[in-house]
Amino acid sequence: MVLLLFGPPGCGKGTQARMVSSWLGIPAISTGDLLRAEVEARTALGITAAEIMETGGLVGDGLVNAMLIRRVEHSDCARGFLLDGFPRTVAQAGFLDGYLASRQLPPGRIIYLDVERQTLVDRMSARRQCPVCGKIYNLLHQPPRAKGVCDNDGTVLIRRKDDHQSIIRQRLKEYDELTGPVLDHYRGPRVHSVDGDQPAERVFEDIAGAIQWAPEREPSSAA
Ligand SMILES: [Zn+2]
Repeated sequence: MVLLLFGPPGCGKGTQARMVSSWLGIPAISTGDLLRAEVEARTALGITAAEIMETGGLVGDGLVNAMLIRRVEHSDCARGFLLDGFPRTVAQAGFLDGYLASRQLPPGRIIYLDVERQTLVDRMSARRQCPVCGKIYNLLHQPPRAKGVCDNDGTVLIRRKDDHQSIIRQRLKEYDELTGPVLDHYRGPRVHSVDGDQPAERVFEDIAGAIQWAPEREPSSAA
């Protein structure tokens, strides 16, 4: 099974990627993580990507596609994989469709974690971080034991620059502009929209339900 996980910043996508990955026994692949790993390992691809990013450019589809293919050809992806952060453009989506067809894999299933934009703004602007140990809190659902200070070291918590409302709104707008056309590309029965504004366990149950009850279930994924 090939799953493509979509959702706006702050929707809890990383948590769901981990839960779904361990449930299905398939790796969760984040293209952002892959790119960072290539840059750190100073591979040819990583060096090229780092040069582009240093000048403020976006790493092109060709590079991202090549990096992704290299990863999904590892043996741990034989039964399928979950992609987080890919495809990001319609061109990448077209490339992935072609690649899956060429490997005679079923087309990807899309899970979209839907959360009201205002809820995301509220969630993210409630984030606080300890400037000393880096621990992240959320005043709404993961507050520190003592108000305003870190559980570990008593340091006064701060709000990170990118957790301010105007910046959050800008990021959400950019996400919608970028992802809208990709979701349109996939529009149809393979797209499952899941209510992401629930506790993580419930979101996961909804995802599991959507995957199991969807049509075109390939026999190899039956466990
Ligand atoms: Zn701390």
